[in-house]
Amino acid sequence: MRRIAFLLVFALAPSAFAKSHSADQTGAPAAVHHAAAHAKDATAPPPPSAYNDHPKLAIILVIDQFRGDYLDRYRADFKNRGFNLFLQHGAYFPDCYFDYANTKTAPGHATIGTGAYTDGHGIASNDWWDLARNQERTVSSVEDERYRLVGEPDSSIPANQPGAPPGAPKFLTGSSPRNLLASTVGDELRLATQGQAKVFGISLKDRAAILPAGSAANAAYWIDPSSGYFVTSTFYMSQLPDWVTAFNTSGRKAQAEQEANAPDKTTQFYELVGRTPAANSYELDFAQALITGEELGQHDVTDLVTISLSANDILGHQMGPDSNYEEQMVDSLDTQLDTFFTWLDKNIPGGLGNVWIALTADHGVAPIPSTAARYGINAATLDLNKLTEALDYAINMKFSPGEKLNYILPHQELPYISLNQSEFMKAGINEAEAEAAVQQLLPAAVASLTPTPPEPPPTDAIVPATPGAPGPQPSETRLPPHPVLFRSYTREQLADGPYPPTPWGTLLAHSYSPNGGWYIMVIPADYQMETLSSIQTTHFSPYSYDRHVPLGFYGAPFAPGIYRGRVEPVDIAATFAALMGINQPSASVGHILAQAFRPAADVTYPKPKPVPPARTHRATTHAGETPRGASPKATTHP
Ligand SMILES: [Zn+2]
Repeated sequence: MRRIAFLLVFALAPSAFAKSHSADQTGAPAAVHHAAAHAKDATAPPPPSAYNDHPKLAIILVIDQFRGDYLDRYRADFKNRGFNLFLQHGAYFPDCYFDYANTKTAPGHATIGTGAYTDGHGIASNDWWDLARNQERTVSSVEDERYRLVGEPDSSIPANQPGAPPGAPKFLTGSSPRNLLASTVGDELRLATQGQAKVFGISLKDRAAILPAGSAANAAYWIDPSSGYFVTSTFYMSQLPDWVTAFNTSGRKAQAEQEANAPDKTTQFYELVGRTPAANSYELDFAQALITGEELGQHDVTDLVTISLSANDILGHQMGPDSNYEEQMVDSLDTQLDTFFTWLDKNIPGGLGNVWIALTADHGVAPIPSTAARYGINAATLDLNKLTEALDYAINMKFSPGEKLNYILPHQELPYISLNQSEFMKAGINEAEAEAAVQQLLPAAVASLTPTPPEPPPTDAIVPATPGAPGPQPSETRLPPHPVLFRSYTREQLADGPYPPTPWGTLLAHSYSPNGGWYIMVIPADYQMETLSSIQTTHFSPYSYDRHVPLGFYGAPFAPGIYRGRVEPVDIAATFAALMGINQPSASVGHILAQAFRPAADVTYPKPKPVPPARTHRATTHAGETPRGASPKATTHP
């Protein structure tokens, strides 16, 4: 019925739609537009736009923790149409950098979807303190106690519900984009087509599925981290669609466990399978099941899917960017993408020519500190527990001598240090005073982390290298790395400025969020990070290695080539919106990458053959089979 109404609108006002989307799609000279517009008035088909199903399907493909230099570093390994779809057959931008200072997963995915930075979309980190919602722990960027999870295996019944197994998690909170303060390109596509376009987000991680897709998405799917089954939230629906249940019970999960050499029915799916190439093919197969099950690319307007591949991040934190495992992961993904793109070519009406794909990442990563230190870089780590102790001691001395109050909240994660608002308020100290005091005490607290009096290097270690022979590494002949505070900013400073009139000022302005209560943004020197317990390296900083990501486009409007010069991940939403003929997302600050557009008159789309939609999903095993095993609440990962 809705579809009939939609078609009626087109029948009544075809020229309005055609005219409003005919111009400015290409960045080509005005004369080309003019000529194209005239040609169209005669017999040419309407220009490509989301309103007339051009393309059939748009995909935003995000590789979690994938630095911009990887595709150059491993380029010689690539075969067929995996990464080469972008490098050889698409428009590729090797110099793409996020323009903000908080390069974590949740803000990265929100930025890609909204085309805005943290000051526009509100997501500053993966987790933060929100004392009004929870006094005992941080809340995650997407958890939402007003909703419940959908599709959790029985093993995940929370302890406060009947039938909960021993060791069950305390709660089974749902998720939603409640903290996302801006619309996404998917939201705008839904609005523009009055809900006709379908929009989905998928990932292993809830935040990476939910945030790039947006508030109006039809659904987002991610995995229960213990079992690996795909789940969603009552924010979207009250029960899983049949195709998801079929995928969950198909034996595909067991196959992933085998491929990853993980135990059958492991209760650590996220950690054990998630860090292997098997997780990427598991997700891409789920994407195929989604496209088939929801009949994406099969109707009168453009559909959109955001796919965030998590495996690279889980592995990268453990092994670092320079390990052989990273190269193996990239090479495997090259093959897996080739398989996925070939599948799209066969299963989307008209083939890959009717698909647009954007490729990017949510952030890069730093080298492992000890690796950087080996070459002489001052890559120290900061023990945040000790830093908190030192700050608490100094603040007590200042405001409550002789007492041991906890003015700094526990479980800190850089680049933020959160203050215990209620403790300060009890002492009659307001936000401005509290943040200023902590900021003032911070340099001494960081300096106190320097290892006990550094010994000068032994003079006999300083042996000049014989030409041609490997000499001593700088790390063997120099003082050990020591923590250095580069800059710090209070929440109030970030909110109100003034910002320096430089690129650094813009970067800071882009990093502000009202979420997180009272806080200080703490920026150590480059290549430094907090001391990590179970992983080796991370990403969080304003430095290039954390901000550099790939940016590639494939699709009919894009002129293949390598495009040098700085671009940003926010440009994806702006560019897709412009080409789709829809509004940019509500807080979008991206640029339209028109330098990579073909002239409008040259953009053509294959005519789909009238064949019934393929139904090849392997839904073969027993519906209703429920997995067993303990299922802790989703842990948070950087
Ligand atoms: Zn990430």
